[in-house]
Amino acid sequence: MCPGGSSASAGAITTATAMRPEQSPSDTAADAITTANIAEPDFPDHFDDEPLYAARKKIYPQHVSGTFRRLKWALLVITLGIYYFLPFIRWDRGPNAPNQAVLIDFPGRRFYFFFIEIWPQEVYYLTGLLIVAAMALFLMNAVAGRLWCGYLCPQTVWTDLFITVERWIEGDRREHLLRDQQPWSVERVARTASKHFCWLMIAWWTGGAWILYFGDAPTLVKELATFKAPPVAYGFIGLLTFTTYALAGWMREQVCVYMCPWPRIQAALTDEYALNVCYRHDRGEPRASLKKAATLHEHGLPAGDCIDCRQCVYVCPTGVDIRNGPNLGCIQCGLCIDACDAVMAKIGRAPRLIAYDTDLNIRARQHGGQTSYRIVRTRTALYAAIIAVVGSVMAYALATRHAQALTVIHDRNPLFVRLSDGAIRNGYAVHIANKHRDTQNFVLQITGLAGADVETIGSDRNSEGEPIIAVGPDQTRQVRVIVTTRQPLEPDASIPLTFSIMTANGQIGAVATDRFVGP
Ligand code: SF4
Ligand code: SF4
Repeated sequence: MCPGGSSASAGAITTATAMRPEQSPSDTAADAITTANIAEPDFPDHFDDEPLYAARKKIYPQHVSGTFRRLKWALLVITLGIYYFLPFIRWDRGPNAPNQAVLIDFPGRRFYFFFIEIWPQEVYYLTGLLIVAAMALFLMNAVAGRLWCGYLCPQTVWTDLFITVERWIEGDRREHLLRDQQPWSVERVARTASKHFCWLMIAWWTGGAWILYFGDAPTLVKELATFKAPPVAYGFIGLLTFTTYALAGWMREQVCVYMCPWPRIQAALTDEYALNVCYRHDRGEPRASLKKAATLHEHGLPAGDCIDCRQCVYVCPTGVDIRNGPNLGCIQCGLCIDACDAVMAKIGRAPRLIAYDTDLNIRARQHGGQTSYRIVRTRTALYAAIIAVVGSVMAYALATRHAQALTVIHDRNPLFVRLSDGAIRNGYAVHIANKHRDTQNFVLQITGLAGADVETIGSDRNSEGEPIIAVGPDQTRQVRVIVTTRQPLEPDASIPLTFSIMTANGQIGAVATDRFVGP
């Protein structure tokens, strides 16, 4: 935990007045001067002290530049680029196979991901993928808190995009605040309508891109444009358009604060060594404007580095004042770090008054102790090991799997039949799954009982007299197999048998074992 300072805000106007001689009119801190004269919305500064639900107060996040903003831009471009354009990437899989790199093919009952092809029987890969995803989330959390929330969560990414569009149209925080306080005019209506139109277009394309993962993307685009796509496609586009528009345009931080379970789970999973975006109150307190700090110093009194300009609050997309300590509403996006660094640079003080840090380090600095950053510790090593093990097992299973499967089930009743000539007969249900895209002729071989007769019901035989079982594409066929021996058996004999299916090129396709049971 990173508890914040307790001193009350001296007020943006006081701060602004104190800062005026040192700042240029265009600099970031000076923007607060003008902003301070506009009626401010009340921010829910400390969500923990709020009732379980509070009516939403509109947030006007201010633009900020810096390291974390650039990182967020880069991730926004990468993640949205992947989402919108991945369905158009082609991947040659040979004849009779779709050439879309990533495709969820419901009619063909396949999931394609570049060179990987998953069949419906292989849902355990999905289980493995979910385990890896959960462990990756836990690992991120153990290393640096809500990295997922701040940089990668779709809610964060799309909200960031919607806020950017809003800023282009309505202006930055100050202009937007002013506009919202003015009476409705043609210009204001036009701007508002343009904003919502752009939001809806983004939301519509978001829904449209989702559909493209379920069919051939270029074909679907043509069908959608000519209104020849299946009605269900339009239905899903409408649904996703609505949810994107509502969640990223209107609900924004409400989703993180009220709807998403991850902040609660994350809080239970974290420990004292996990880095979090913290206000270093050991350095920032007591807060004082530049003028007040000079006066305090003249009298030999201490003054912290925080000048209470509230830039960190103005840029926050969730309206949090990080100086008040850990907060459910803080998605740890790092934008307040950029804002404060810009202020520190302008007033000639060291950066990272707000930074990724731990409460342990803050307390250590307060008491003159050593700080420590322990990224590698038991829980991070454990999460990484689980990811490595599960990932390796999945990779091995994928690399060594067969395109056909064989299952053998011995008759339960009777276990054996004695024929009139004294021969002993056992019956088996043999299931052969063919995951190829064309019909395969498998040769069935049974070893383990020399001289036994093998009979299959309803199949041909090759020149060696072995049963040939034809299985259609993507189908499973069951055949009844009768094994008969005329050789004398030990009492209560139970002889292991090996069933094999050979592919057309003479390779062993799959193997299963069972037993031949005697009287
Ligand atoms: S922490 Fe930094 S940005 Fe926030 S009020 Fe203090 S000086 Fe300003
Ligand atoms: S307090 Fe800082 S890190 Fe947290 S959400 Fe606001 S800007 Fe992002």
